[in-house]
Amino acid sequence: MKKELIERKVYQCPYCDDESLVYDTEEHAEEHVKECIFNPENESYATSKFLGVELYPPYPRYAKNDRPYQVQKLLNGVFHRAYDTRTGEYIKDEEFYKPAPEWEEAELTFDGDKRYYKRPEVRFSEEMKESKYYEQFKEMADELKEEYPELRDEGKAA
Ligand SMILES: [Zn+2]
Repeated sequence: MKKELIERKVYQCPYCDDESLVYDTEEHAEEHVKECIFNPENESYATSKFLGVELYPPYPRYAKNDRPYQVQKLLNGVFHRAYDTRTGEYIKDEEFYKPAPEWEEAELTFDGDKRYYKRPEVRFSEEMKESKYYEQFKEMADELKEEYPELRDEGKAA
């Protein structure tokens, strides 16, 4: 005999908008929202217009295996590194959990009634340039520039 389904009510953060990140109680969800790096009220680097992403090849030696899930989401995994586009300095993973210096919100873009932040500036690390992944990523970056013309001026990517 087939078992009956269990119905459960869960809460989701409106900023993460991630169905794999749910909370059993409203209180837990609200606690998360207060610290969520994607909540612009927290003025983190995740919502800052000065966030840049430096691409690294996916080799274990570059993996940041203790990277928090939200930062993994933001930086597309454990290999790439964040930097401040004003200084070029790296942003450590834990710095996403405090306000970014002189925070200004990243520009928004819209898809129907969904709001997204525009893609951050991208640059290639020397390690990436020397890896076999470089050509593939370079092509992807060029395609993105066609798709998002605002990236063109920041084409220091290559
Ligand atoms: Zn969240």
